[in-house]
Formats: sequence, C-alpha cells, structure tokens
Amino acid sequence: MNSTPFAYAPAPESVRPALKPSYGLFIGGRFVAAKAGRSFKTINPATEEPIAEVADAGSHDVARAVDAARKAFPKWSKTRPAERAKLLFRIARRIQERSRELAVLESMNGGKPIKESRDEDLPLVVQHFFHHAGWCDKLPYAFAGAQPRPVGVCGQIIPWNFPLMMAAWKLAPALACGNTCVLKPAETTPLTALMLAEILQECGLPDGVVNIITGGPDAGRAITALAGKGVDKIAFTGSTEVGKAIAKSVAGTGVGLTLELGGKSPNIVFADAALDQAVEGVVSGIWFNQGHVCCAGSRLFIEESAHDDFVARLERRMQQLRVGDPLDKNTDVGAVNSKAQLETINRYLKAGSDEGAAKLEVSCALPKKGFWCRPTIFTGVQPSHTIAREEIFGPVVSVMTFRTPDEAVQRANNTTYGLSAGVWTEKAARALEMSNRLHAGVVWLNTFNRFDASAPFGGYKESGFGREGGRQGLASYVKVGGGR
Ligand code: NAD
Repeated sequence: MNSTPFAYAPAPESVRPALKPSYGLFIGGRFVAAKAGRSFKTINPATEEPIAEVADAGSHDVARAVDAARKAFPKWSKTRPAERAKLLFRIARRIQERSRELAVLESMNGGKPIKESRDEDLPLVVQHFFHHAGWCDKLPYAFAGAQPRPVGVCGQIIPWNFPLMMAAWKLAPALACGNTCVLKPAETTPLTALMLAEILQECGLPDGVVNIITGGPDAGRAITALAGKGVDKIAFTGSTEVGKAIAKSVAGTGVGLTLELGGKSPNIVFADAALDQAVEGVVSGIWFNQGHVCCAGSRLFIEESAHDDFVARLERRMQQLRVGDPLDKNTDVGAVNSKAQLETINRYLKAGSDEGAAKLEVSCALPKKGFWCRPTIFTGVQPSHTIAREEIFGPVVSVMTFRTPDEAVQRANNTTYGLSAGVWTEKAARALEMSNRLHAGVVWLNTFNRFDASAPFGGYKESGFGREGGRQGLASYVKVGGGR
C-alpha cells in the first residue's frame, strides 16, 4: 500500500458480521418500523458501498421510545441490584463472545482499522459493562453511605467516532443505577448499536429498559425536546456547537445534563523526554482512529532545543504508517468517517497552508474509492493560526515550540477547550507540576490516549461538564438526598 521498507502482504479479516439488509428502531424490546416509513442507507466509508438500510426516526417514534422507557422504569428501578448486576455481567460476556463480529462491523461502518476496533474499542466496551455490573449492588459505597436513587428515563445522544464504546459509556452506568434509556447513535454509524440491541434481547434485558432510535439531528432534537416531559436526564457526547444548542434547549427544564464535547488538546514534549517513546505517544495521540478523537493531541508543543530532532523522528515514523483498507490487520490508519468530515478536514489542510505553516504528509498511494486523508504534520504553526485553535477531528497535528515550562503551560492552556493533555519528561517533579497547572480533565504523563472504566473522563470549559467512568461517572445517573 505504501513505500515502507517492509512490504506487507494483505492480511484481510475473514469474519463477516451476521447482518440483516434492513433494521427498524429498537423500541419496547422489539424492532419496529419508523411511523413515517422513512429510512436511510448506511455505508462503508472505505468503499462507499451501502451496508444496510436503517429506520429514520421521527418525533412520534422518539415519543414512543420514551413511553416504552417510562413504562419499564418502575419495575427496572426496583429490580434487586444483584439481579441487575447479573444481567449486566451477562451482557458483558455476550459482547465479549461476539466481539470479533462487533469489531468488524465497527470497522466496516466507521472506517477505523480493525486492529483498533478489535484491540481498543471492544475491550473497553466489555470493560465498561463488567465494571458497572460490579457497582449495581454497591452503589451506597460510591456515595458515602447515602441511598442513591435512579434518575428515571435517560436520553442519550452519541457521536460517530467510537460508536459502540460511546454507547457502552452511556448505557452501562445508567443501567447499573436502575435507569431506563433512549439512546441515539450517530447517523453515519448506527450498526453496532443495533447489534447491541440484539444482544440485549438475547440476554433477556426486560423490554423497554433500553430503546435505540436511529436517525439524524432531528431525532436528537426530538429527544432533547422531551426533557422534563418524559425524559429525566440528557447525556450528550458530540460537538461543542451542538452541545451548546442542547444546553439552551434543556435549560430551565430542571433536567440534569452532561456534555462531553470537543477538544484541542496539547501534547507537550520536553527535551529531556525519552524521545522515541514520545514519538510513539504523539503517533497514538493524533493518528489513532484517523484523528477522530475528542481528546486527540492535536497541538504538539516541543521544547525548542529538541524541535528539529523530534520532528525528523516523527516524520520518519509517520512515513511508516500504513493507510488503507480498515479490514486489513496491518492497517494503521483507516478511512475518514464520512465525505462531509473529509471536506471539513480538507478545508483545515488548506487553511494551514494558506496561513503559512509548512506541511509534511504521508507519501503513500491512497485507495481510489472511499474517503481518505493522509496523516499530516504542520510545522511553523503560530498560536493564532486556525489549525492551532479549532478542532480538526482528523489526522493532522500542529507543531509549536516553547522555551520554558511556564511558556509551555501558558501556550497549552491558551484554548477554549480543556479535555486532555499529555506531558513527556523524565523528570517526575516537572511532570507532576505540569499536570497540576494544565487545565484539562485528563492529563497523561509519558503516555497518551489511555482509558479505563474506573477512571473518570470529561472536560472543562468548552469541552463540557460531567464525568464518565468510575464513581464520579455514576453521580449523574442517581439522585442522592431529597432533591430531584
Ligand atoms: P455532532 O455534535 O454533530 O453529533 C453528535 C450527535 O448529536 C449525533 O448523534 C447527531 O445526530 C446528534 N445531533 C446533531 N445535532 C443535534 C441537535 N441539534 N440536537 C440533538 N442531537 C443532535 O458531533 P459528531 O460530528 O457526531 O462527533 C464529533 C464531535 O464529538 C467532536 O467535536 C468530538 O470532539 C466530540 N466527541 C467528544 C467526546 C468526549 O468524550 N468529550 C467523545 C467523542 C466525540
């Protein structure tokens, strides 16, 4: 596929998921057609070929799903915690059994390399269900002895970059706390959520406890419009722009809201760092999942004295990346998720060059069909440049320099976002001091993009509020004391 020193023979994944030609909405434990009979094709972004036809929910369908969740709530919320745990453990094990199939489907529908969906997404999905299954009968311990009560019906809206993982991050804590759910996957990646619906059926989750609504922004708006009118909590992961619109529509309803939004995260490399290790961290920080990562290390700050050496090492490493078929086990960088996202990334690539940054990119040939973007490094970037300020959500890193730790902190924090940050140094005192001074929900030291179901994840400023994972993540799915 590209001119690496080693030629790799194709290593195509052989498993194919058991797919139906069309999918309805998952409401009240059954797959049903959308009332208006509307549907859309979901495609494979690496080939542009349709995979399946999926129902397009209207507001009537969303209301039906919320009704189903309301009806299921009284019984589910009073189900013995150990019984809820049994079901969540069963779901976790069944996902684990079907993980190869789910990983292939995730790569087919989303464009991500199979080695990532197989080794990163699916293990984390399973871990989230196992972790939260464990909390079901121990919730009072998470809240200092108080008896937490479920919130009610949760409206959950998720993006396309980690479709099944985002579904797990939303559903597992909500169910563990005794809530019922209406979940809407993103319009370009509905399939793994629908396969999860089949798994929930297989595992005997009571009807209506989880409802899955497919469709676009209108279906999402229909969920938030029911805040306070059947929906008791809204959890949203997606862009900052949509997050702000949702915050406005939910304001004044008394309904709890959590927002997991965008980022423009700094990855800071000191000259004393183990440079080759840091190169690997930068590679994972920006080229993992084609850079479609909310916490991507898209602003790379290198200490000035190490800049030329580090950029040379990074470029050499970038040229080894294999870009192409997501279902080839050797592929490092797959397809961009959609044509629209590729157009957005291309606008940023043009802005980077127009504003005077120097572009280095992978020189391999790209497949003829599908949506592809070469992993790219921009050097000579100024903090005022568009590519240093705005979230690109693609495989593009903007390189800047600093001379002192103070300058690194000041430049890194000079952003409207605050989701994650990375620091690379051999000096432990410096690493700890930096982590205290960086305004980010997560700070990784000598690593990047590490996630764990027991560790809270979330942002500050325009990256949103609320946490997912760990004890902190449970808090938004319970009521403690006498309040709502
Ligand atoms: P998006 O905001 O366009 O869409 C997200 C979801 O919201 C989709 O399901 C979409 O159909 C729905 N939606 C769109 N408009 C809506 C509206 N007005 N009301 C209700 N729902 C609406 O985001 P995207 O392009 O799918 O995802 C990319 C964004 O998600 C990036 O900004 C990324 O940083 C962010 N993200 C954040 C995290 C995090 O944990 N902080 C994780 C993953 C992705």
